[in-house]
Amino acid sequence: MKFLNLVHYFEKLEATSKRLEMFAILSDLFQQANAEEIDKIIYLAQGELLPPFHGINIGMSEKYLLRALAKAGDVDPEMIAKQYRIVGDLGGLAEKVIHGEGKGLTVAEVYERIDAIATMSGEGSVERKIDAVCELIGAVSPLEAKYVARFMAGKLRLGAGDATILEALALSKGDRAYRKELDRAYNITSDLGLVAKTLYQAGEEGIRAMSVRMGYPIRPALCERLSSAEEIVEKIGRCSVEVKYDGLRCQIHKSKNDLAIFSRNQERTTPMFPEIAEACRNLFREQEIIIEGEALAFNEATGDLLPFQITSQRKRKHGIEDMAKAFPLKFFVFDLLYLNGEDYTHHGYAQRRKKLFELIKKNPVMEVSHAIETEDPVEIQKFFDASIERGLEGIVAKRLDGPYAAGSRNFNWIKLKRSYKGALSDSVDLVIVGYFAGKGHRAKFGIGTILSAVYDPGEDRFKTVTRIGTGFSEEELVQLKQLLDEEAAPERPHPVDSEITPDVWVNPKYVITVTADEITRSPNHTAGRDADGIGYALRFPRVQGFIRTDKSPRDATTVSEIIDMFNLQKRVKME
Ligand code: ATP
Repeated sequence: MKFLNLVHYFEKLEATSKRLEMFAILSDLFQQANAEEIDKIIYLAQGELLPPFHGINIGMSEKYLLRALAKAGDVDPEMIAKQYRIVGDLGGLAEKVIHGEGKGLTVAEVYERIDAIATMSGEGSVERKIDAVCELIGAVSPLEAKYVARFMAGKLRLGAGDATILEALALSKGDRAYRKELDRAYNITSDLGLVAKTLYQAGEEGIRAMSVRMGYPIRPALCERLSSAEEIVEKIGRCSVEVKYDGLRCQIHKSKNDLAIFSRNQERTTPMFPEIAEACRNLFREQEIIIEGEALAFNEATGDLLPFQITSQRKRKHGIEDMAKAFPLKFFVFDLLYLNGEDYTHHGYAQRRKKLFELIKKNPVMEVSHAIETEDPVEIQKFFDASIERGLEGIVAKRLDGPYAAGSRNFNWIKLKRSYKGALSDSVDLVIVGYFAGKGHRAKFGIGTILSAVYDPGEDRFKTVTRIGTGFSEEELVQLKQLLDEEAAPERPHPVDSEITPDVWVNPKYVITVTADEITRSPNHTAGRDADGIGYALRFPRVQGFIRTDKSPRDATTVSEIIDMFNLQKRVKME
């Protein structure tokens, strides 16, 4: 496929925010693609070269891109920098500056050139990159240059989230029945390009045959919520009740010669956990294994687990070795997903856990998560109380025969967290979609309240649920303003659904954890709107901590979780 053809589809995508239209445009695009290019088309449409877990960052600084643009268009760099300050969009600027007809490059050619630029490193690589971008932009037409420039700046936002791509892929094969299989394949590999390529090369059979792969993070299984031990037993009967540790979730892939650790949102975090990586290498030597667990700081002398604020200090680039000495981590393993060629996600929980006990021999860093097996609500309550007393978050009850439900939240796992009187029993994770400048003493920070949203996976959109005014320190407000302004959008971003218009729209990128007093019905917010236009809203929301880096916007709390929490809250109130 010619790159220009792809760009025409990008133009159509940009012009709509209607989901059905997006599905139609994308599925039409996918039908034009062959098996060699479908993966590249999907990555490019999402503004990436490869899935995020590869950790490739193409985002070139504006300064260098402007230089490349000036050179390619043979215009004065000063003039172009000035224009950029007015227009604010590198893509629009590139379209104006470039005049040629282009060489008719294919998608694969453009992809390869960008890939080559992204992987340039070492001495003089900045100049080489600028030259290569200049050459690429010089070889395409103005419209193509618009998208190349945005892509290179990391600012290509077509609103095609993973759920949208999956739906369009299923549609492109003319059969929505594919969707379930495609979802499963995606949830166990986190690689949409690979899934699409497999579909194109080997059809539905190929998709069905896909299984867990070493080095491809498996999307996490998540917990449903219930509000009492009785409800848990009623729902899943005899179960395993594990401690819910409040640390950092890690998925470790250890092959014979390699080891990678992935965060909850599939980012590579290996360098943050040297002691856990070493313990894994020593323990599993020749084994190929994927395990999952929670890493927590602990006091070596007393064995006490330390609060999340201390564990989370690991999330840094420098000084990790010192941190590891000051606050060593313990790794509580709660699942086994793969062992020596065998995909364990299909096996029942009890079988996976039994194997974990066989594999994890006594060592100072790693142990299997603590649990009891019971069908007695009184025992569950006692275990819960004891966990809370130890300063832990609560418990996770697990269905004994439940497979590992990659990428989904269901009643195989049920969490019960500490709840404070009058407050919502669980925090929610919201996406910032805009802010208001603020009045009074807040005006000096430029941010008064934040407009926040939950995620609707069915529509692949973000729907507002509250405005939050409190919870950040003055320093945090300054930092927040800077981060949000980098993501500011001139108008409502397509994936955002909102009745409220903030002073500044923000592209959905940042997730914050929020507690509130309760969930109410509200005509002002779009989350869960019914036919009468009444949605759901959080009452008295407060931010906990700062931005949550282990969750991507599409990992935020969903609309259906808010509705479930609203119903749970009603039940608790009635008791
Ligand atoms: P939270 O904000 O409560 O961490 P979450 O959205 O990250 O929620 P949940 O499904 O609510 O995910 O809760 C599961 C999380 O709890 C996991 O992501 C994991 O990090 C953590 N966890 C701690 N202990 C356990 C355990 N024993 N089994 C499973 N998950 C555990």
